[in-house]
Amino acid sequence: MSLNGKRDGDPRAASTLERTGLLGAASEPELDRWTDAVRRDTGAAAAAILLLDGGRVVAKSLCTVAGHASELTEVPASLSRAEYLIGAAGSKPRSEHEGAYLEHAVSIDGQTVGVICVADPAPRPWGEDDRRALGTAADAVSTEIRLRLASEQADRVQELLRSHNEVHELIAQGAPLKDVLMELIAGIERHDPSVAACVVLLDQESSTLHPGAGPSLPPDYLAAIDGVVIGPNVGTCGSAAWSGRLTITDDMATDPKWAPIRDWVVQIGLRHCWSMPIKSSEGDVLGTLALYGPEPREPLPEHLTLMADGARMAGIAIERHRTLERLIHDARHDGLTGLPNRTAIFEQLDDALLRTHSKQQVAVLFIDLDGLKSLNDTLGHDRADEMLREISERLSSAVRADDFVGRFGGDEFVVIAEGVKDDEEAAELGFRLLDSISEPLPGVKSTTVTASIGISLMTGTGIDAREAIRQADSAMYTAKRSGRDRCVFFEGSQRIRTGRRLALARELRGAEMRGEMRLEFQPVTDLAASETVAVEALLRWSSPSLGEVSPVEFIPVAEDTGAIIPIGAWVLRESCETIARVNESLGRSLELGVNVSAHQIANPGFALSVQQTLHHAEFPAELLTLEITETALMRPDTVTARTLRELEALGVRIVLDDFGTGFSSLCWLKDHPLDAIKVDQSFVGGLPDDPRDRAIVAAVIDMAKALGCTVTAEGVETEGQLTTLRALDCERVQGFLLARPAPIEQLTAQLGERVAA
Ligand code: C2E
Ligand code: MG
Ligand code: MG
Repeated sequence: MSLNGKRDGDPRAASTLERTGLLGAASEPELDRWTDAVRRDTGAAAAAILLLDGGRVVAKSLCTVAGHASELTEVPASLSRAEYLIGAAGSKPRSEHEGAYLEHAVSIDGQTVGVICVADPAPRPWGEDDRRALGTAADAVSTEIRLRLASEQADRVQELLRSHNEVHELIAQGAPLKDVLMELIAGIERHDPSVAACVVLLDQESSTLHPGAGPSLPPDYLAAIDGVVIGPNVGTCGSAAWSGRLTITDDMATDPKWAPIRDWVVQIGLRHCWSMPIKSSEGDVLGTLALYGPEPREPLPEHLTLMADGARMAGIAIERHRTLERLIHDARHDGLTGLPNRTAIFEQLDDALLRTHSKQQVAVLFIDLDGLKSLNDTLGHDRADEMLREISERLSSAVRADDFVGRFGGDEFVVIAEGVKDDEEAAELGFRLLDSISEPLPGVKSTTVTASIGISLMTGTGIDAREAIRQADSAMYTAKRSGRDRCVFFEGSQRIRTGRRLALARELRGAEMRGEMRLEFQPVTDLAASETVAVEALLRWSSPSLGEVSPVEFIPVAEDTGAIIPIGAWVLRESCETIARVNESLGRSLELGVNVSAHQIANPGFALSVQQTLHHAEFPAELLTLEITETALMRPDTVTARTLRELEALGVRIVLDDFGTGFSSLCWLKDHPLDAIKVDQSFVGGLPDDPRDRAIVAAVIDMAKALGCTVTAEGVETEGQLTTLRALDCERVQGFLLARPAPIEQLTAQLGERVAA
């Protein structure tokens, strides 16, 4: 089994000789000198050094009468060392007993790494001198091997130092952390090719590990440990990071810390893992440095040194990297809000513009808070700072996940949105931002901050970040000039653009106070008396940016946003005052119908506000009829029920508007006596020809009469309809046939004429 080319086996036995280079084929004059010497001194026919490398025996420096053998030969396993050398000494292989053989062990630090030996083809005795000669030669060979080992060791240390220097150099240059760690690991693996090194980084916040560098480990393994939560028994690295102590697993196959994935790690060729925590200068664990290998084994002391040195350097690299990251972050972020600053905004925008193409535009939204200076003055700087932080958080949560929010300076923010389809999408984002900003601020009662937003939309051709910002900024100024609290698009001419529904919502806010709302009145005619007995107030809105908008469109939006409450109050006040004046000037008692929405009557203070309005306008309660749609009345809501009772107590009349279009419940009608019902124009429209409509209208009129309610038919457009309604004994009618809704002046003129006539 091999780990990305790592050599199998215990390196301790193998490496001693291998590291000396003696197992190579080259002739070694240093050794040959000693085989020559022992052959001469003992008068033997052959001398050799036999190296013991693991299980095999390798003949090095074989010296016979014929001279030195040039090739390195492995002694066949079938031959003993004596048989081999006696054979080499004579013409044909001899048995041990036919010749003479003498050897002396060559040892290094108590470990036998070979023998130096002499042999003769014929038996002969060996004297003390022979043994001494061999002993001296063995010592010399041992010294030679030690020298070579020392020099090899020195080379490796030199190489390791070079690698350490390289690592320090990279750290000093501020190279990417990955590069530093890769060099560190390469150095360790060059130093000891039998291990695969790996650095994992600890994310302190989440207590999870993430691979930093481990080029010799299987990528699957690195992927598997990415995000692992550390703990006392979570693998070797997880445990080392958890305890902050060196953790050794000799054999992953038996260590309980690896139990959950034991089979898998063994299968991918990992058996040992030794892990050294990497610490910061303060002693916090930053990660771990681990050495893996394909066979179970304990680390040697030199491995521990290797890991300790490596972990120290990795620690410096990681700390340095983090400091640098912090510096870079600080240089690109705003200290107060933590948002990217102006520099970062320009960078981001330049990148975004490079990425964009014709179908996917980049929207730049330049946001400037309205009236921050005065807030600063009233709230004090600390509170204003807090408010800026609050607003920056709101902006960040109002944008989409991929959008970018930066603080341009002071009270200016920039949002960059990529992949924007069209104006509509950009406008929607702009309105979302306006809405998030204008939410009431906590602790600052009745203080609402608004903003002016300039939007520039770009396809990235020929425009740089500076120009894009300039455009958005200039559109923002237009937004300020045209009344603040709005979005303006930069288009050279700077159109004030709006996403329809959001635009309605935005423009509706305060519209009644800006004088954008007015009322028209439509007469209601009593058929028996053939005269106008009532008028219905109908709201009209002329928005400076959206033009004339129908109540059918804006009322539901006003209901959704709550704007209906102040708007409804305005309608009531305005209409009561108007009709009070008209009645006075004409000497009439025209009834007034005012439409109210479900939200208004569900508001606990509604009846009281009606009472105050009537009082203020000096308009008699009994002339006021509130027109409420069925859906509003059907709501089983206690506030609504109470409001209705309170209104009744005031003497105000309630009419069920658009009868037949909701879920008209007869039970409900039975329990809640109403004053009037308005038959919806959709039924009136079918008269006189549609027998079903006719039947329904007839039934509603009969039912209303039975319940004591007045019936009004709405939307009367033709004589045919009018005749039918008369025949069905409908009391009141309203519709274009009799009069269109019109400004009060027009109506007063008509009524005045009639009075005069
Ligand atoms: P509504 O209360 O049923 O008002 C009658 C609607 O029918 C008015 O539309 C009126 O202009 C229209 N109409 C009148 N005669 C005819 C006719 O002969 N033919 C046709 N086709 N239509 C006729 P408008 O003014 O567009 O108002 C629509 C709705 O908006 C109103 O329906 C009412 O529900 C709501 N609305 C209007 N003003 C207010 C208001 O001040 N507050 C509330 N909450 N809702 C209002
Ligand atoms: Mg109505
Ligand atoms: Mg109606």
